[in-house]
Amino acid sequence: MGTKILYIEDNFANRMLVSRILKVEDYEVFEAEDGPTGIELAMKEKPDLILMDVNLPDIDGYELTSKMREIPELANTPIIAMTANVMQGDREKSLNAGCDGYIPKPIDVDVLPDQIANFLEKQAKGELRSD
Ligand code: MN
Repeated sequence: MGTKILYIEDNFANRMLVSRILKVEDYEVFEAEDGPTGIELAMKEKPDLILMDVNLPDIDGYELTSKMREIPELANTPIIAMTANVMQGDREKSLNAGCDGYIPKPIDVDVLPDQIANFLEKQAKGELRSD
């Protein structure tokens, strides 16, 4: 069975770019452009990893992460925040919201596959939350 990744992102160009890269890496990719669709797809597909854009129009990615953490089926799904707001404290903010890590934007297409693989590897070893 393939590794499922859910990508929650409102920006069409980013969705196309990241989805294409992930599909090349043979991940099964699901896309959501807003929070409600993200939760719905997460419940339905039980992804191995969620990539969470922080700046969403209806709800910010941190709030959405907190919401997902309250849903038992999603409480332990790895969530990686993708944010351009990389300032001091941002890592803490994403971790406090229940994210397991973050990938800074702009996305580096040459590095993204390794970043994803590292998160999945850590998850498999049970190391992600203690990071
Ligand atoms: Mn956005």
